[in-house]
Amino acid sequence: MLKLENSYRAQLPSQFYEDQVPISVAHPELLCFNDSLAQDLKIDEDFSNPDLTKNILSGKQVLKNTNPIAQAYAGHQFGQFTMLGDGRAVLLGEQVVDGNRFDVQLKGSGITKYSRRGDGRATLSSMLREYLMSEAMFYLGVKTTRSLAVVKTGEPVYREKIFDGGVLTRIAQSHIRVGTFEYARFYTGQLETFTKYVIERHDPDLLRHDNYALEFLKNVIDRQIDLIVDWMRVGFIHGVMNTDNMSIAGETIDYGPCAFMNTYHPKTVFSSIDRQGRYAFGNQPHIAHWNLSILANSILPLIAKNEKEAVASAEAVLHTFPDEFARRYSAMMCAKLGITHSESSDNQLVDDLLALLAKHSIDYTNFFVSLRYDSIDNRLLADQTFMTWHSRWQKAFNRSANKEDGLAFMDQNNPIIIPRNHLIEESLSDAIAGNMFTFNNLLQKLSKPYAHQDTQQVPTGYDQNYQTFCGT
Ligand code: AMP
Ligand code: MG
Repeated sequence: MLKLENSYRAQLPSQFYEDQVPISVAHPELLCFNDSLAQDLKIDEDFSNPDLTKNILSGKQVLKNTNPIAQAYAGHQFGQFTMLGDGRAVLLGEQVVDGNRFDVQLKGSGITKYSRRGDGRATLSSMLREYLMSEAMFYLGVKTTRSLAVVKTGEPVYREKIFDGGVLTRIAQSHIRVGTFEYARFYTGQLETFTKYVIERHDPDLLRHDNYALEFLKNVIDRQIDLIVDWMRVGFIHGVMNTDNMSIAGETIDYGPCAFMNTYHPKTVFSSIDRQGRYAFGNQPHIAHWNLSILANSILPLIAKNEKEAVASAEAVLHTFPDEFARRYSAMMCAKLGITHSESSDNQLVDDLLALLAKHSIDYTNFFVSLRYDSIDNRLLADQTFMTWHSRWQKAFNRSANKEDGLAFMDQNNPIIIPRNHLIEESLSDAIAGNMFTFNNLLQKLSKPYAHQDTQQVPTGYDQNYQTFCGT
């Protein structure tokens, strides 16, 4: 049953939020609703009435006995510190299911104290895009916030043109970000209270620990490494890994200018504002490490009273990141290659392969499937360097006593279906025109990314001019 608590509001001082109900909209219309997620959250029966559903999930109606809030936070955006907060979102509350707490948040729900010059709204298209992307990530097995619904508001949103407005219902383990710690440390004087709240929520076992803050840092690093390795596995580019867009819970959050890479290149960027490639595909581990150093800096006073001591401890933990990332990245790439018994020389095998994929502009996703089914692109087959690579790979693959184990590794780690940019755009333009068929069809396909099926072909040259945007 839907029973929204608000531990954030109940347990934290008022500097951390602002009471804020969603701003009502004119003519809400429910465009998509995630039945299976609603069942998992045990709220499916609450949303069996379509009128109530569209009213609550658009913000037109506020549930009795709930206390929606906008959360305060800060963040480093493209390396620059900024004060932020939920400028276009409100946390309706937290649904607790089998002891697990989930935030239920409306995004695009109107102006708040933190809106700065923004209108608090979102375009229908960008909310449908987040729905598709986050659900795709979920089915790919990547940790992510999820999407419960998208409602068309019936109101215009003014950007460079006039668009339909939309509200997304986002479900997350929490919306606590690295940037929330920056805010807690430098603007509230309540760092300890806040950190203990977060640890109790996400890492309760740590509270017994003498240095709970340092252990917490280790856990966040651990989750972040797993997450970025998984992004690299499926070719995901977040696009705007500012510290306010990095969840403490290790979930992918804030699907703005994100996209999946088609042809492999580590410098791939789609975001219209990322001109330096700060958030390029291959730079994501480096940026995650940078963001984590901001987290470490924010909790220093809790790590040790003596600042020098605190810095030394935090640095020692942060310094484990590159090697640990490399270790897990290598294990992941070996799994994609079906190598069950990896050796240190396999790192070179991976590097050499990626150089070849970049040189010949080969589709990242499709390559691993083609390796699995021996249907490799002719451009690679015609390159002697690749053929040499292939025999090295075969030797590595054959270290496994059982060929089936290697193939199973490949099948589990190499998706066949990903949300290709051209398919997303097609489904969004149909949806905006009032036809949800293409969108629902794509969603259906994205829910079985590893099932054996034909690979997807990207129109030649499509990505060259493809751009994604923030704040739409
Ligand atoms: P994002 O790039 O989506 O992570 O957003 C960065 C910050 O800008 C967050 O604090 C958002 O709440 C805020 N923001 C983005 N779009 C709007 C908008 N249309 N109105 C108000 N605030 C916004
Ligand atoms: Mg954000």
